[in-house]
Amino acid sequence: SSSRGINAREEKILVLVRLRPLNEKEIMMNEAADWECINGTSILYRNTLREGSTFPSAYTFDRVFRGDCSTKQVYEEGAREIAFSVVSGINSSIFAYGQTSSGKTYTMNGILEYSVADIFDYIRRHEERAFIVKFSAIEIYNEAVRDLLSTDTSPLRLLDDQERGTIVEKVTEEILRDWNHLRELISICEAQRRIGETSLNEKSSRSHQIIKLTIESSAREFLGKDNSTTLAASVSFIDLAGSERAAQALSAGARLKEGCHINRSLLTLGTVIRKLSKGRNGHINYRDSKLTRILQPCLGGNARTAIICTLSPARSHVEQTRNTLLFACCAK
Ligand code: ADP
Ligand code: MG
Repeated sequence: SSSRGINAREEKILVLVRLRPLNEKEIMMNEAADWECINGTSILYRNTLREGSTFPSAYTFDRVFRGDCSTKQVYEEGAREIAFSVVSGINSSIFAYGQTSSGKTYTMNGILEYSVADIFDYIRRHEERAFIVKFSAIEIYNEAVRDLLSTDTSPLRLLDDQERGTIVEKVTEEILRDWNHLRELISICEAQRRIGETSLNEKSSRSHQIIKLTIESSAREFLGKDNSTTLAASVSFIDLAGSERAAQALSAGARLKEGCHINRSLLTLGTVIRKLSKGRNGHINYRDSKLTRILQPCLGGNARTAIICTLSPARSHVEQTRNTLLFACCAK
């Protein structure tokens, strides 16, 4: 039990920062780790060689997690409250934002698993209701949406539905049976996501992945009757393209198109989140990118949002680390 549990205020975006440990390669290269987390809420830049620099050196967020914190801790002390609100009928989204190799996928996969375990546990304890958990997974690459549960690689269309807002046409929705089924679906997604990848992390650094769980429930005593009402809400887990793509908008050559699109999605997400952080009223430019169009129901209105910003502690990554922290500051 922790005394640091977060009481996120409904209207605010919860901003979490996770510093990963130096990896083997960085240790072999004798990299220095220049960042330190203190008090569970602040992160400090401690490079004595750079003293007197004009950059701010301390940043404060809802919660920061040190390199030796487990994903379970990140989940329990940060993301759980947001993810779990889905069983009460509230839409939510949890993002991982950070440069490639900072730990986005590592963090999101763990958080998805803990969330599903909690949801199934909740279902077991509420036999008075009948539940259905649906799982879908898409990838946005070059502003094209692809179904990660289908071998058909043709892009999916977005449709505007009067009641439900933007929907992804013909996306596969699997009814999630149990834990093993989740593992199975995740490995299908991982295999699909690698198609077209030329080197390790090549494509996943350029594409956004959205895994969505939709939970529907109705009281058993009313099942099949006219007066039965279904409660439905969804939680989305978003593993974003590497944030370095936002800075590489003008990279030349064949990569230009990809760079631009990813830049647009990340930039639009940035402006949407900045506006949401100032309150959920007024015009918000969801329609400027596929990512924000699809996520609109999980971002606006009563929806709850957490952003987990992942960081490398290595000195050689300091520029990207600062960019990520600046994004995180804009969101809070
Ligand atoms: P990204 O998705 O941001 O590109 P990954 O999640 O793939 O980064 O992480 C890169 C590598 O670092 C992986 O081998 C992963 O297992 C490892 N890693 C990331 N975060 C942590 C962490 N907090 N603790 C231990 N290892 C981590
Ligand atoms: Mg990744």
